[in-house]
Amino acid sequence: MTKYVNQHNADIDYDNYIKNLDRAFSIIPKVQDTGERFVVPEPKLFTEGKTTVFENFATISDKLNRESGHVLKFLLRELGTAGKMEGNRAVFNGRFGIGVVSAIIDGYVQEYILCSECGRPDTHLIKEDRILTLNCDACGAHRPVAKRMAGMIAKEEVLKEGETYDVIIAAVGRKGDGIAKKDKYTIYVPGVIKGDSVKIKIKKITGSIAFSELIEKKSSSQKKSV
Ligand SMILES: [Zn+2]
Repeated sequence: MTKYVNQHNADIDYDNYIKNLDRAFSIIPKVQDTGERFVVPEPKLFTEGKTTVFENFATISDKLNRESGHVLKFLLRELGTAGKMEGNRAVFNGRFGIGVVSAIIDGYVQEYILCSECGRPDTHLIKEDRILTLNCDACGAHRPVAKRMAGMIAKEEVLKEGETYDVIIAAVGRKGDGIAKKDKYTIYVPGVIKGDSVKIKIKKITGSIAFSELIEKKSSSQKKSV
């Protein structure tokens, strides 16, 4: 039997190691289970005059497995601007940074891609009787996603930069920031967990995306309401 010695000078049971390795391989999901981690690439942006060029837009909407037109519409609505696709790029009127665009894509993923039951991204959208539903291919769950369709933008702006608000953290985004909803706004709150009831101060608003800082944690409800 071959003996291997690790850095702590302890013998490794090679046979057992191989056995464990075999077991590890046997439980790796097969390709069609799409067990791969769902990673959306960072947006590549640059400004050109008064416009922002989203260079890898097509790559990202491919990765999201959604129609680029749908993704674009969402981006424009959240940014509160106009824009269009140019080949594989998208071009927006106005100057926008990576932070804002990433946050919006994050919001898109939460709303139109991730299954709220099992958290998998293997889902598809179905429109039935004018109601858009997110159906999960992994667990079969479905939920409506029609809560923020066009027409809500015209609403009077209720959030103001520098003001404080009480919100409840509805979800946590990919980057770890908490997400709260208030009217048309998606508010990012650092340092919180899902279910927290918090007082926040709005630092910056772009379109319907708002960035905030935590002022006070009022209650942390770890208990699941299901
Ligand atoms: Zn699911």
